[in-house]
Amino acid sequence: MKDLGIEIINLHKKYDDVYAVKGIDLSIKKGEFYGLLGPNGAGKSTTINAITSLVKPTDGEVKILGKNIVSDFRYARSQIGIACQELSNDFFFPVEELLYYQAGYYGVTRKNSKQRIDYILNKLGLYEHRNKKMRMLSGGMKRRLQIAKALVHDPQILILDEPTAGVDVELRHDLWKYLNELHAEGKTILLTTHYIDEAELLCERVGIIDNGRLIVEDTVKNLKNMVNKSGIIIHTKENFPNLDTILKDFNPAINQNRIEILTKQPNLDLPKIILKLSENNIRIEDVQLPKASLEDVFLDLTGRKIND
Ligand code: ADP
Repeated sequence: MKDLGIEIINLHKKYDDVYAVKGIDLSIKKGEFYGLLGPNGAGKSTTINAITSLVKPTDGEVKILGKNIVSDFRYARSQIGIACQELSNDFFFPVEELLYYQAGYYGVTRKNSKQRIDYILNKLGLYEHRNKKMRMLSGGMKRRLQIAKALVHDPQILILDEPTAGVDVELRHDLWKYLNELHAEGKTILLTTHYIDEAELLCERVGIIDNGRLIVEDTVKNLKNMVNKSGIIIHTKENFPNLDTILKDFNPAINQNRIEILTKQPNLDLPKIILKLSENNIRIEDVQLPKASLEDVFLDLTGRKIND
């Protein structure tokens, strides 16, 4: 299909006699920001490494911008930038030099890549560290360098394996901001993460992956709506013996002065509940509307937590 940035068809990967990926299909539109969310060992890295030929699939096919990554590998490579988890063995080279080498792999001369490299060094907060050897960088700076390397040849498609794993909060927020800018520029971005907030905040669509299979995918909003959890929690100022009779239409769970109501439409039911309580002169201490998260979706589907 013409409007697809990345297409994965029936991907399988077997290591020895264990399947790490058991038939994954993904269609990611051009310009889309897509997240693969799942626990460690779910098959996320194997899936994205198959896109960049770091992993040879046991079965299945991958297309980049409509072209097969094996038969059109030069084209595919030129369109993809990948920041994978493992750091390559560039530890003794200065940051800036590594970026020039990387540009060289794509046939861009030193002269022609200078402007781009300066821009990326600045964007990723690496400019002042450009002469440091990679081994001198902190863990967070190394992650930035991985992303800088992925961007040197200005690819259409950016693939990031756990881009913020192990980095501090401030750097995470900087990286998120920059990824949003890249998305706004029209890049297709696929990231893997086991951080729920990262997937919820950044991604237009999220695929939840577990045990080598994509178990569900949709927009964050639709995924959260799948969970039968949205509710209302109200604490009253005093205990009232007949709360369950007063609120019988809402099927409440009551524990002393705590009322919990499960509803698919909290915004519509809340005013009605408050009205009922005030008609009965019941004073409210506080009201909470707990929101479902992608963790609840995963829990509902697998019975486990993502980061257990
Ligand atoms: P994730 O990225 O979601 O943490 P991976 O794709 O790295 O998951 O791993 C999926 C499964 O495949 C895990 O059980 C892992 O141990 C196994 N695996 C990954 N790479 C290899 C390998 N090179 N050899 C053998 N098993 C592997």
